[in-house]
Amino acid sequence: MTQTPTAMAQRMPTATTSRSPRNRVPYAALCETFVQIEATTKRLEITDILTKFFQRVISLSPSNLTQCIYLCINRIGPEYEGRELHVGDSILMKAVVEATGRNLQALKADVVEHGDLGTVAEQSRGKQRTLATPQPLTVPQVFDTLKTISEITGTSSQKRKIDLIRKMLVACRENEAKYIIRSLAGTLRIGLAEQTVLQSLARAFVLNDSETRKMSKDKLENELASATAIVKQVYTELPTYDQIVPALLEHGVHHLPEHCKLTPGIPLKPMLAHPTKSLTEVLDRFENMTFSCEYKYDGERAQIHRLEDGSVMIFSRNSENLSVKYPDIIARVPAISKPDVTSFVLDCEAVAWDREKKCILPFQVLSTRKKKDVTAEEVKIQVCVFVFDLLYFNGKPVTGEPLKTRRQLLEENFIEIEGGFHFSKSMESSNVEEIQTFLNEAIVGNCEGLMVKTLEKEASYEPSKRSRNWLKVKKDYLSGLGDSLDLVVIGGWYGRGKRTGTYGAYLLACYDEDREEYQSICKMGTGFDDESLAGHYKFLSEHTIEAPKNYYNISDNPNVRPDVWFDAVQVWEVKCADLSISPVHRAAMGLVAEDKGISLRFPRFIRIRDDKGPSDATSAAQVAEMYQSQNINPVHGNKSRDDDF
Ligand code: AMP
Repeated sequence: MTQTPTAMAQRMPTATTSRSPRNRVPYAALCETFVQIEATTKRLEITDILTKFFQRVISLSPSNLTQCIYLCINRIGPEYEGRELHVGDSILMKAVVEATGRNLQALKADVVEHGDLGTVAEQSRGKQRTLATPQPLTVPQVFDTLKTISEITGTSSQKRKIDLIRKMLVACRENEAKYIIRSLAGTLRIGLAEQTVLQSLARAFVLNDSETRKMSKDKLENELASATAIVKQVYTELPTYDQIVPALLEHGVHHLPEHCKLTPGIPLKPMLAHPTKSLTEVLDRFENMTFSCEYKYDGERAQIHRLEDGSVMIFSRNSENLSVKYPDIIARVPAISKPDVTSFVLDCEAVAWDREKKCILPFQVLSTRKKKDVTAEEVKIQVCVFVFDLLYFNGKPVTGEPLKTRRQLLEENFIEIEGGFHFSKSMESSNVEEIQTFLNEAIVGNCEGLMVKTLEKEASYEPSKRSRNWLKVKKDYLSGLGDSLDLVVIGGWYGRGKRTGTYGAYLLACYDEDREEYQSICKMGTGFDDESLAGHYKFLSEHTIEAPKNYYNISDNPNVRPDVWFDAVQVWEVKCADLSISPVHRAAMGLVAEDKGISLRFPRFIRIRDDKGPSDATSAAQVAEMYQSQNINPVHGNKSRDDDF
């Protein structure tokens, strides 16, 4: 049952107790907020519920605010620190068994029935009597324990994890066990997107400010909108609550940008480009604007940071630390800038490089390079870095400058190294034949196509946005083959004949951010060679789960029920002939057709996308957009197809 806000307020510490060191946000207050959020799908209501919760935390226990935020987004630190909460089902089940005294087989049967160990843990707790009532859980206590669990490694790690989880479970009341288990399993699934958390945070600070109480309704609305924009923008440049929350508490929203800026050492989510289908589309979009065409290199995005103390770090598109993978690039960084350059952040693509022939090698070669424990001497696959943007320079962010200025700074202050570090190849022209020739040259040079970017007007760097100021033109779009999708593999069918002993086909899903769920999009059995089939089998058979997670959205149609379910751990790039409305698949359900999803026709495997996490997979909204854009300019028919599994 949904708790009322009054019930929740009663659980929060009171203002009088707030000065005491024992004043911590009760975990129960956070869980009641989760219950209320889970009970609605309306974004405005969710924002309102969370804003009120944050307002109380800010007034009563401000030092717990960062931890509350992390628990809402189910993380234990900034994303770039790469600390994962993903405790396996078997450990969680053992902890529930130990905490409740239930039988493991009966528990497993309940999990298969409910599809959610969290709910089963909550119900199991209800049946359990305890002798002494433990102290109620607090937010810092739960957060610290989750963090400790994520850090446990080595011998007897399983037992230590189970002990800590059991202790928390024994102290749980009401619905707390459900959310602890879901947090540990890696997904809360209450329908709370991070953007809503940022919005609620901004609103809470505005509404807690006594000045705003005197404002007219319109003025207050403007104030709330501008605060939200500030907090969201700052977060794109400095994506860490560890710095943003203390700065908000100390200086308020309006002064936040002065205190929280892009900082070398903290990766930002890169700017992304919109796909286009023809060069004329590009020319239409950029009419009357200056723009530049660049080679679109086919490798791995690399954000190179040099800090004032001279240390260097490299991050992936996903904010993963790549420094251990690329010691050879790190070794070359001191030589790429002129002597008076002290600090910078560069946006680049690292591509495999043939030193003898002095040419770019295809992406497939780069993907065979070792990812960990690499020493510069051991490197077998050589890489060359192509730099295309400068985001921070000598102590200052330059993302707000137009690309023309950023590029000029790059060219004036950085030095190319033959076969090691180059400026991305670019040209300026609005002549379609010239651009076509440049595109052909890019493709001959093992590039994917072109990136076309505004130079002066609307030409700032927009972190984490798929912006229309950057357009990508890939050779495949032009030949009508369509863009690729990055999908999560969630199930497999055992192979027959030549494929016996491996999985012969797979069930794939896109990710719906708003609903926090993976939605099935196609069954795929094409594009594999024997080696990749064996590799997928080896990897995925270690990630099987007994039943589909309750955040997998799949129909009951037997054609889309695989023999084996997988945990959502790997992303694959997939190409298809086109997209069609599907009676059985659930991708983008409700976005294009009310009770139907979208599926891919003739999907085929292209490659594993190690640089993307499951929640970075193609989103439901992008699937809907791809479907709609092919309808504007149809290459194939788009009728609903019942044979489309
Ligand atoms: P896509 O992954 O198809 O959305 O394409 C965007 C990716 O292309 C970026 O994340 C970069 O890794 C890569 N890329 C290659 N060359 C460039 C370039 N000149 N400008 C921007 N991105 C590039």
